[in-house]
Amino acid sequence: MTAPVIEVRGLTKVYAGEGDAEVRALGGVDLTVHQGEYVALMGASGSGKSTLMHIIGCLDTPTGGEYLLGGEDTRSLSEDGLAQIRNERIGFVFQAFNLLPRTTALQNVELPLVYRGVPARERTERAVRALERVGLGERLYHRPNELSGGQKQRVAIARALVQDPTVLLADEPTGNLDSKSTRDVLELFDELHAEGRTIMLVTHEDEVGARAGRVIWMRDGQILPREGLEGHA
Ligand code: ADP
Ligand code: MG
Repeated sequence: MTAPVIEVRGLTKVYAGEGDAEVRALGGVDLTVHQGEYVALMGASGSGKSTLMHIIGCLDTPTGGEYLLGGEDTRSLSEDGLAQIRNERIGFVFQAFNLLPRTTALQNVELPLVYRGVPARERTERAVRALERVGLGERLYHRPNELSGGQKQRVAIARALVQDPTVLLADEPTGNLDSKSTRDVLELFDELHAEGRTIMLVTHEDEVGARAGRVIWMRDGQILPREGLEGHA
């Protein structure tokens, strides 16, 4: 059997707060996500969803506990090692798109491949394919300010997909979108899931949770046990 894509055990994160105060954002989280799963992470604001996603995305490191990505223990990795994993194996989609403003859609999507040293011609081919995959084959040379919110988020999804990541992570990807663009982006996630992608996303919308194969609820830095979920289902 292949290792789970994500395996988190006893994960804790403590932030230094104001003065002596500490914020315990994660209080011992256990989570396993298998290849091909589509998981929605839900819960009130401040419950620790982004903190967990950032650690899973190798954008941040935990205070304690274990995180194995594809069976590899991330604790043994240096800053450079984490940056490399992030580039090669994680596709991260943010609520605010995080595109480079004065740069075309194509250049934005090529960027992860530039960092990885992929030759220019292959880079362009792959970025064009990723943009076509998200329905933006006609918008290659548009800059972010020439695109709608939904289109910007699709560029960001193309950028996340271009290195064929092990897992696609999205933190409230529809949080800045109108209802039509939200539907488009969610349909895209459905299609990517049907193609076998492993997806984990944070959302406030029950509609999104309903599309995912599994909903995980967080409260106060903990994942709620399944028996605590009555009333949410
Ligand atoms: P969510 O995404 O569910 O809204 P977060 O993971 O952003 O929750 O935050 C969890 C807790 O950690 C909150 O109490 C938040 O204020 C705190 N927190 C998040 N990031 C930081 C930080 N960089 N420094 C200090 N406290 C933080
Ligand atoms: Mg958040």
